[in-house]
Amino acid sequence: MGGEGLAERADRAAAHGYLLGQFLTPHTNRRTDAYGGSLDHRARLLVEVLRGLRARLGDDYPILVKMNGTDDLPLRRGATTEELLRVAVRLQDEGIDAVEISRGHYESWPGMIQGRYRGFFRTSLDSGAGQHSSALRKAVGRAVAPVVERAAERLRPPLEGFNLPQAELFTRALDVPVICVGGFHTRAGMEAAVDGGKADAVSAARAMIADPYLYRNVLEEAADRPVCGYCNGCIARFGGLPVDCCSDEIRHDRDAMIARHRARTAD
Ligand code: SF4
Repeated sequence: MGGEGLAERADRAAAHGYLLGQFLTPHTNRRTDAYGGSLDHRARLLVEVLRGLRARLGDDYPILVKMNGTDDLPLRRGATTEELLRVAVRLQDEGIDAVEISRGHYESWPGMIQGRYRGFFRTSLDSGAGQHSSALRKAVGRAVAPVVERAAERLRPPLEGFNLPQAELFTRALDVPVICVGGFHTRAGMEAAVDGGKADAVSAARAMIADPYLYRNVLEEAADRPVCGYCNGCIARFGGLPVDCCSDEIRHDRDAMIARHRARTAD
């Protein structure tokens, strides 16, 4: 559930500083009208979009909202977990079918993802969204990259289920299913999250870029499956290159696995 791709772009709009998330976050929502200020006002657009979707899609169509469990914006006015919980309860009252809990804002880097960061800045500036930065920003980015990347790795090392502390709060507060994203790639990690009651389900993005058959392979405990190394190279290329794993070894294993699967299913 939840591979990274165009289909997911719409559902994460309430997280990470995408449009609906920008309205929830005081740091980005400076409006003084009915869509800014109080939490009720900041959540208004999201609720109106939800109502519009429900009216168009009908009661039987499942609507999931991806939202942050924490904005993770130190020294700035991010939405607090307590506020985000209140938004989720409001969305539940409005009829959503599930929430997916993530974290962080584009301005809270590296708060959104955990993993390895060596070369992240340079790759982003050369091939990803950073290539559209001004010459000055690029120069500063390249100069500070080694220090920032090392700090990011220490602060946010690879960790399976890194959003579980927040997801657990939402699971306790809501009756609708809570899905937790964040570093899941093993059967043990997924089962611990669900069996431990911290989430009702888990989702993955980077692990599915490396292994599009992730869930089946995890379930079958396949020994020869490609496993994401959380180098974050795919994230660094966002905004510049198509989404793909940038590890030659993992891509080779993935393509071989897909070829084996196609050969089996063609028989
Ligand atoms: S580039 Fe490949 S190994 Fe690195 S995080 Fe992305 S999917 Fe995982």
